[in-house]
Amino acid sequence: MLTQLSASELAAKLKSRETSAIEVAEAHLARIDQMDGEVGAYLEVCREAALESARLAQARLDEHTDGPLTGIPIAVKDNLSTLGIETTCASRILEGYVPPFDATVVSKLKEAGMVLLGKTNLDEFAMGTSCENSALKVTRNPWDPDRSPGGSSGGSAAAVAAELAPMALGSDTGGSIRMPAALCGIVGFKPTYGRVSRYGLVAFGSSLDQVGPLARTVEDAASLAAAVSGHDPSDSTSLRDSAIRTDGLKNGSLKGVKVGLPKQLMSDAVQPGVRDAFDMALEALVREGALVDEVDLPSIEYGVTTYYVIAPAEASSNLARFDGIRFGAQRTGEGHIGNVSATRGQLFGHEVKLRIMVGTYALSAGYYDDYYVRAQQVRSMMSDEFNRAFSDYDCLLSPTSPVVAFRLGELRDDQMALKMLDLCTIPANLGGFPSISLPCGFSQDLPVGMCLTGPVNSDERLLQIAYACEQGLPWGYRRPPMP
Ligand code: GLN
Repeated sequence: MLTQLSASELAAKLKSRETSAIEVAEAHLARIDQMDGEVGAYLEVCREAALESARLAQARLDEHTDGPLTGIPIAVKDNLSTLGIETTCASRILEGYVPPFDATVVSKLKEAGMVLLGKTNLDEFAMGTSCENSALKVTRNPWDPDRSPGGSSGGSAAAVAAELAPMALGSDTGGSIRMPAALCGIVGFKPTYGRVSRYGLVAFGSSLDQVGPLARTVEDAASLAAAVSGHDPSDSTSLRDSAIRTDGLKNGSLKGVKVGLPKQLMSDAVQPGVRDAFDMALEALVREGALVDEVDLPSIEYGVTTYYVIAPAEASSNLARFDGIRFGAQRTGEGHIGNVSATRGQLFGHEVKLRIMVGTYALSAGYYDDYYVRAQQVRSMMSDEFNRAFSDYDCLLSPTSPVVAFRLGELRDDQMALKMLDLCTIPANLGGFPSISLPCGFSQDLPVGMCLTGPVNSDERLLQIAYACEQGLPWGYRRPPMP
């Protein structure tokens, strides 16, 4: 079945003419028809456009002007702007908004000859950990339809796990690529802040947001990261010479790789089954030659609270642009102020409003120093602490999520517990570090992910280590129990 193949396997078959880009696109569209009613990964499927780009991709393959990803289908999170295709951020306020431009990453996919299958569900404006904050759709975990796929890139993760796309793009502000990747049993990579352009990504927390790949193998994640990375003059935070290279991906081994285990991330919060799966994976990595040591990073304790000041503060400012006049849907009230407040009052969801209020409070005169400034101070303290650890270790390792996929609705009334699940992923966003989640085992027949984080700009090395880990954990990847 074509839909079961990884992108690199598909690429090999396309180049050897065993299949065509059109066949590959059709196979994925047929599987979406068959399965997405159950999964709910896509908000919109771009059938005609996908078939048209598949035809163009095949022409490039025939003319030998193709690249490594030409003809490979991809799903894109619906907070990335797509020219001529509705971009909703899973919010009522953006319903009907059709961007007049492509995000830089989307232009790069097109230049690479990839085939955009559609736009995937997310927590509204990427605010959440379960995909349940989507105002538009429920996405289910392919491992168990009663469970959450994780969030906020839950649609992208579920699409890749359920073989409704071989790869997808997501965005990660506090873990939104890695968390759903872990809960759906696939690979998710957040590159170093600045290596992938944010131009056209609908901003949530601008100093934290990063676009990155979700895929079923590290190799695929690396090749998608390579395709979308690189300097972009349209993003003022984009780094120079930032294209991610994949040439050395398979040349590494775990022999002598120094891995630090932050002891603050191995706390009681980690479910015993997750702990067992993680420990078993760790033993395998040690057998492969990794040198593992516990490391003390006390600032981790403040990560979640720091993030939940900074991210809402930035969100409150970023979301001020949604006034019902310039983008998407509108509600009317009395006069201009009435229009704006009716639009924002009726069309933003609860979690988004909560964050706007918290963020506005944290930035207001009188509280700014106590909250925002203090959070930024803790953030630099934390980065310093991590950077000191990186002088002794190649990377840090922990479970990605302290729990396996939880039941839909289970944590809806316990926002504190839900937010604490970001404990392991948030430090990478606060420090701008590259970080990757990969499948490492199972608990209760549900996938468990491990998260590797490296110093700024170590993306190539981190991917190389992750690739070696993947080879050392042959039981890590399984297909979900779906037809
Ligand atoms: N779960 C985190 C939040 O709710 C992270 C979201 C993200 O990375 N976009 O903000």
